[in-house]
Amino acid sequence: MAYSEYWNPKNETLPREELQALQLLKLRRLCEWAYATTPFHQRKFDAAGFKAEQLKTLDDIRRIPIMTREEWMESIMEKPMFGDLLATDVTNAVRYHLTSGTSGRTPIRVLDSMKDWDWISEMWCYGLWGFGVRPEDTVYFAFGYGSFIGFWGAHYCCEKIGSLVIPGGAQTTEGRVKQIVEMGATTVCSTPTYALTLWQKAREMGIDLAKDSKVNKLICSGEPAGSIPAVKRQLEETWGAKCGDTAGMTEVGTIMIFECSHQPGGTHIIEDHFIEEVLRPDSDEPVGYGELGERVVTSFGRGFIPAIRYRSKDMVMKIPASTCTCGRTWDIYDGGIRGRWDDMKLIRGTNVYPRAVEAIIREYVAVDEFQIYIWRKEELLDEITIKLEMTPGYEAHWPDLQQKLAKDLAEAHEGLRFNIERMNYGTLPRFELKAKRLVDARPVAAYA
Ligand SMILES: [Zn+2]
Repeated sequence: MAYSEYWNPKNETLPREELQALQLLKLRRLCEWAYATTPFHQRKFDAAGFKAEQLKTLDDIRRIPIMTREEWMESIMEKPMFGDLLATDVTNAVRYHLTSGTSGRTPIRVLDSMKDWDWISEMWCYGLWGFGVRPEDTVYFAFGYGSFIGFWGAHYCCEKIGSLVIPGGAQTTEGRVKQIVEMGATTVCSTPTYALTLWQKAREMGIDLAKDSKVNKLICSGEPAGSIPAVKRQLEETWGAKCGDTAGMTEVGTIMIFECSHQPGGTHIIEDHFIEEVLRPDSDEPVGYGELGERVVTSFGRGFIPAIRYRSKDMVMKIPASTCTCGRTWDIYDGGIRGRWDDMKLIRGTNVYPRAVEAIIREYVAVDEFQIYIWRKEELLDEITIKLEMTPGYEAHWPDLQQKLAKDLAEAHEGLRFNIERMNYGTLPRFELKAKRLVDARPVAAYA
């Protein structure tokens, strides 16, 4: 059957002038509604002297005060359980979720109504349909179905598309591999890290996923790695499938960006439902195409919690829609989300970004799992050590790998010395949700 390439052909190909007019209209309504219903935004708008009628052009968005996670947290602490951010009564909610708490912080609590869930799944439809998921597909969710929002929206999206959904909830990795093969899943949704774990487990079980499974699409989310070329290449080769990146956040409830089936090396922004600004993190001034900045998101769809100019701390680089051949008029984040501004580590005067380190390590198929370990030598000198496990069958590569990897990492980091240490197979932690491969073991005093 011949399907349209787009989930929403009109909006995905809207000329940019019309798109921006739509965004401005939605932005004005959002601000009016948030001011009328949400004490949090009322307080913020009043303090900044901002009124919705000041929005004459899209540039006027900069009159709206920026919203931070810290303010959100404060509001939750002062008025438990949800702070004064809710735009409607708690009794209208049908679901409760939490942020994953990646950085060990107190998670943010969110509520959603049925209407929100309709929108949340719709955003996923843009992404999954755009990557080629169709009613004929059997979609496997390698996901825990807990209070972390994760792939919940994608699950409902696949029902909406009409695909057969297999909820691979509480199970062992081995159990999931078996189901994927037995049920003839054609699409697997997981974090990039866990997709690698599934493949490793399958290999131990004597299963070659590229040959023995019907999987032709891997949908990644939850970590930036889905757009790291070496990780993507490794996933595509080992699974014999196309690998597509998506990214969302609990604070908006769904995905804001997705990679289309043309795989432009980045993710389209769902611009009829979000405004994604890219700002310099130090001055909040907008940056142009091709410049790194922090994404600040405004979401039009969530009815319970208005997110307006919400600061994400995600590092991104916007490029024009025309870079991709798919015909969408929606701009792209080149390389997806490139990590977090607060993930940066300063080692002996050199900036180290975990994602950049991962991108280099993943060029080596001989590395099965790794950890970036930062420590302090004799209470004086900061050291960075890559602890790694060799891929079974590649053990003989070790001496060579140790030298080459240290050299590659140093060259990419102004000559900074990286120690490379080999660990016994199976000793490093494996991850199902968001991988925590960075361990900073320096004394707390270092931050004082
Ligand atoms: Zn595209």
